[in-house]
Amino acid sequence: MFIKRQAIPSPEQIKEEQPLPAALKKIKEERDRLAMDVIAGRSDKLLVIVGPCSAHEQKPVLDYVARLGKLQQKVEEKLVLVPRIYTNKPRTKGVGYKGMFSQPDPENKEDILKGIRTIRQLHLSAIGLSGLSAADEMLYPENYAYLEDVLTYNAVGARSSENQLHRLVASGIDLPVGIKNPMSGSIPVLLNSIYAAQSPQVFKYHEWQVETNGNPYAHAVLRGRVDNYGNDIPNYHYETVMQVLDGYRRTEGGLKNPAVIIDANHSNSGKQFKQQIRIVEEVMQDCRYDRDFKNIVKGFMIESFLVEGCQKHDVVYGQSITDPCLGWEDTERLICDIAEKV
Ligand code: PEP
Ligand code: MN
Repeated sequence: MFIKRQAIPSPEQIKEEQPLPAALKKIKEERDRLAMDVIAGRSDKLLVIVGPCSAHEQKPVLDYVARLGKLQQKVEEKLVLVPRIYTNKPRTKGVGYKGMFSQPDPENKEDILKGIRTIRQLHLSAIGLSGLSAADEMLYPENYAYLEDVLTYNAVGARSSENQLHRLVASGIDLPVGIKNPMSGSIPVLLNSIYAAQSPQVFKYHEWQVETNGNPYAHAVLRGRVDNYGNDIPNYHYETVMQVLDGYRRTEGGLKNPAVIIDANHSNSGKQFKQQIRIVEEVMQDCRYDRDFKNIVKGFMIESFLVEGCQKHDVVYGQSITDPCLGWEDTERLICDIAEKV
């Protein structure tokens, strides 16, 4: 049984209500270009997608991205920073807080219409305040249309990377789409997903039969895996990354722009958030050791917020209510450190 609670306006209606001003459009297009150049190897900079696991409240997220905007100026020769503003959260068991999209107030009931308006406003404000356009997770592919003009990076999560609609919609996005390895860690599944996203596709999207050109900026994100007993097993090590490179090279029909982003948290850190620092340093060390490794590693995904760790309820300002994050000072130090070592 479905109970209809409220009608949801179309993406066109919402975009008309909350348009992207021309000045912000220009910023976003410049940021898009910088991020695409990294993935395609036209630039030697590294991409760092960094921010809280979930953006549960506007104000601390805006405080955070304003700091990131300043930091970007400091490291602009070496790094392209993309704030994580993740407004849609997948849940392992399907229940619990599903992000600002569903619950604009995390302590209150679901209100998806308010949620859509809130997340669009948050992304617009963030660009204006920081000069950076963000990454979000494309958890529900049809909802991409509400944010398509404001995002620079889209993530397909580990629980979604084998899903056909995610892959097909990714094929129509003319921007980097980071596809995570599935929870099982299967590299063939990951490469098949990238293949699908890089291929032209025909499918139904909203009220239309659409055609896409394929997205050459679809790439791999290694987030670690979970074994059959529920243990986190990392996959950021040299050996796995080189296997991914080998898989890229062997894929029949060919894949464009071999690229790996290392997600330093999740099953790579076992959610021991401080380990993100060591993991990033280890990967940077391997970059110095091997040119092929260096060429395929295009950057990092780091979970970070104003205050380190996490909390169950939104009590501490600027602390994650989902996965535990690095705090701001550690993050700033880590980003400067990556910039020094590129
Ligand atoms: C995330 O990036 O916060 C996330 C949910 O990741 P994953 O899909 O890897 O679990
Ligand atoms: Mn997370």
